[in-house]
Amino acid sequence: MGAACEHHHPDSGLHGGGLIAALDAAEGACRAAGERMTTPRRRVLELLLQAGEPVKAYDLIAAFNDAPDGEGGVAKPPTVYRALDFLSRMGLAHRIASISAYVACVHADADHSAAFLICDCCGTTREVAMPRSGLEASAREAGFSLGHVTVEGHGRCEACGA
Ligand SMILES: [Zn+2]
Ligand SMILES: [Zn+2]
Ligand SMILES: [Zn+2]
Repeated sequence: MGAACEHHHPDSGLHGGGLIAALDAAEGACRAAGERMTTPRRRVLELLLQAGEPVKAYDLIAAFNDAPDGEGGVAKPPTVYRALDFLSRMGLAHRIASISAYVACVHADADHSAAFLICDCCGTTREVAMPRSGLEASAREAGFSLGHVTVEGHGRCEACGA
């Protein structure tokens, strides 16, 4: 899952206490929304947070089944896809369509609009805040009630652009 290019990139994944804290916060958000953070859901989110970059579903399925102590058991692909659907719906992860991969969300609030800066050289992806106001105004003019928005911007990251 590492960067494919030879430019130097810092590891953006979460480990140790930071990882546990992020998982516990996500579990709290689920509870507050009346949802359950089941073992497969938590495990998939853990894998995404550890990676700190977009991961393809089939890599998640492989990693899921790779747990050293058999934690979570062996997942059939639908288990992982259902967990990904749930995490996306909760705003804890996002699907990035243009590279068909999933990434853990860096914002804790559910149902926000996400904007991604995707590096075409190394594949790293950064989620940034996106003002919706312009699009919202255009939508209103068109009589359209705007729901979920995901923006995917392609280019070069700082490490690769230098
Ligand atoms: Zn997000
Ligand atoms: Zn890059
Ligand atoms: Zn690069």
